[in-house]
Amino acid sequence: MKSRGSKRRHSVRIAAQGYKTSVGIHDITGAKPGPTLALVSGQHGGEWNGIEILRRVVAAIKPSALAGCLIVVPCANPEATKLMNEGFPVDWDIEALRETPGDSHSLLRYPWAACKTVNRDNDPYNMNRKWPGKPDGTLVQQTAHAIWAKAVAHADYVVDFHCYSDFWPHGAYLHRKQVVPLAAAFGIGLIWHLRKGEDDPAGMLHVAAERAGKTAFTVEFTPQRRLDYGEVAFGVEATLRLMVYLNMIEEQATLPAAPDRQYIVNWQQKTAYVKADAMGLAVMSVPLMSEVEKGEEIGRLVDLNRGASSHIFRSPMKGLLIRRPGPRYDIVHRGDTVFQVIDAKRISVPKRPAGGKPAESAGRS
Ligand SMILES: [Zn+2]
Repeated sequence: MKSRGSKRRHSVRIAAQGYKTSVGIHDITGAKPGPTLALVSGQHGGEWNGIEILRRVVAAIKPSALAGCLIVVPCANPEATKLMNEGFPVDWDIEALRETPGDSHSLLRYPWAACKTVNRDNDPYNMNRKWPGKPDGTLVQQTAHAIWAKAVAHADYVVDFHCYSDFWPHGAYLHRKQVVPLAAAFGIGLIWHLRKGEDDPAGMLHVAAERAGKTAFTVEFTPQRRLDYGEVAFGVEATLRLMVYLNMIEEQATLPAAPDRQYIVNWQQKTAYVKADAMGLAVMSVPLMSEVEKGEEIGRLVDLNRGASSHIFRSPMKGLLIRRPGPRYDIVHRGDTVFQVIDAKRISVPKRPAGGKPAESAGRS
């Protein structure tokens, strides 16, 4: 963040617990003054859409056309990403290793298959529970601390990019109601408004950033462990829309407007799940994010022997369809959750205050 109108990349190096890593950071300083936006991706090693979204954003932004500063951390956790696992280092599941005799190829290619699954909130290696990090802590704590010092600490606004597995539509998490217009300007469709301190565990990047006086939210693009190019393109547009909203870049004629259907939900909201009572192929009758009526057909179960539908899934309530068969497979078994409908409130996309700063940025810099 030195000279006006510059673009540079540097790396921070961290060594701890016998491991070392290096995290790249892009600093783009605009020719004109304005807010500082930090974009972070790749905290979890199986979540890659954000890495490609941020590569395209960095390539698209010219310092001469930028007001303010853009700080981009495309891959906050390279070691976890090499392993394709949520965190690093890991506890290896020795039993899982023993159960795959002779299949060394699959373990080399999919090492995360033998990483122990631990409680996400207590996981000592989950970077997104460690912010703002510790200068003398574990590898993941020190990495978070270095990224905080070089990127997040300088920002007015912070967006943290993650990926769901593919049974939910993309969405945003935030806990302060004042951040809703910012997420709506981003245009992600499903905004989870979390209760402070309960649904939003301490140590999440957006929570720590908010506590430090920044305006922050988390976004999730589906799926994990694969790029979805539609999601990537949408994520780039969303990031540019946010920068237009923050008056960091000019309005662009080619940039699609934010989707006009956006919803706000929380985990206390009335919701209903639909489960399979037999095995078969679960197919959707309406797309995700459809507003459905109680009793409306939302999907069918295809009987594998007859090749015909044997059951119609109906929505148990009026609401928004937010879960498709999954998380990984469309073949479902008796008892599997197939659909979820939630009571969602539709919100309107905010207009940018003409010529002025967006309301949310007032008094925060
Ligand atoms: Zn994640």
